[in-house]
Amino acid sequence: MIVLGSTGSIGTAALDVARRFSLEVETLVAGTNADLLNRQIEEFCPKRVVVADRDTAQKVRFAKVGYGQEAILSAIEESQSPLAINAIVGFLGLKPTLKALECGKTLALANKESLVCAGRYIDASAIRPIDSEHFGLKYLIADRAIRRLIVTASGGALRDTPIEEIERSPIESVLKHPNWNMGAKITIDSATMVNKLFEILEARWLFGGYKIDAVIEKSSTIHAMIEFEDGCITAQASSADMRLAIAYAVLGDLSEPIAGRIEPCSLEAIRFLPIDERRYPVWSIKGQLQNTPELGVVVNAANEAALGLYRDRKIPFGAIARTVLAAFERFSVPPASIDEVFAIHNDVERWAAKSALHCKAQSS
Ligand code: NDP
Repeated sequence: MIVLGSTGSIGTAALDVARRFSLEVETLVAGTNADLLNRQIEEFCPKRVVVADRDTAQKVRFAKVGYGQEAILSAIEESQSPLAINAIVGFLGLKPTLKALECGKTLALANKESLVCAGRYIDASAIRPIDSEHFGLKYLIADRAIRRLIVTASGGALRDTPIEEIERSPIESVLKHPNWNMGAKITIDSATMVNKLFEILEARWLFGGYKIDAVIEKSSTIHAMIEFEDGCITAQASSADMRLAIAYAVLGDLSEPIAGRIEPCSLEAIRFLPIDERRYPVWSIKGQLQNTPELGVVVNAANEAALGLYRDRKIPFGAIARTVLAAFERFSVPPASIDEVFAIHNDVERWAAKSALHCKAQSS
């Protein structure tokens, strides 16, 4: 298989699955973590290796290392493997998603930003989701009339922080996710609840136009539920370990446990809570976004711009949500083609980078 983003949280878990099931890895793509990539090359002996830039390429021990976005796309095209895992983070993952699908590959997709930004222009039938909630939904869907899909949220790192302290939460606290060990971006997106907005859009493009809700379940044991028209709700429970969703996406099926088992008696503490807009201001646009899911590209671009500034300590945590909401108000025309997706992404990202600094000024 092809593993895009092999050095990240999902990428390393995917290689764990490859190790466990003795799967061949034809192509490895990483960003700048040359040390880890070198170890992966030694273990998996890929035929092709691509990294983010020339400096990193020079540190990689491999005969011919490609670098940059075009090299990633060529590597996908040249690979014989029928399966690609896309675990690159952010909007950067969209072109590789489009390329893998164009080449007729089955796509095990962790890069949710692809569907969030361009779901309308992506054929989801070749996609196997690597997201615990969407894996859960897929696991539950039965041949019965569905009333509603429900995904759960952990609530993120600030779920118990007093609301008045959230505005100035330092990155060190925001990166301490209570249940999952994930990359920095998705960990911050969990704290703002942007991640759950994204998952609602992801579910929209993967499963169709059902009513989709989200609730907080702090233990991250129940990942998804389906309410059927007959009034029954089924729930998918498993431990917080991404290797389960990855194994299903890669193998198509699984007949042995890959994550820890769950003891029913340990589930007594499970409670479901509504998502509070005062704690998570971005949740206020959930309804509008569901009505016009193509505007996911606006939310994503504003979020990526603001996140970069927050991680550089140039804006406070609260300015991320303000920037997303301001962009959503300003850019209300959905893209009418895939080219417009890229154009809108660039426009919003530029605008939001300036606006985020203004949001900061308002708050200080
Ligand atoms: P990480 O930050 O841990 O990993 C991101 C990967 O992308 C790394 O391998 C990184 O390389 C690579 N990358 C970054 N920039 C480039 C570039 N310019 N060219 C090539 N590769 C690049 O993120 P996660 O693994 O947490 O998340 C990946 C995706 O999966 C995200 O879209 C996220 O939303 C989604 N996801 C993650 C989950 C999780 O549990 N972590 C759960 C569900 C979805 P390097 O580190 O070498 O720079």
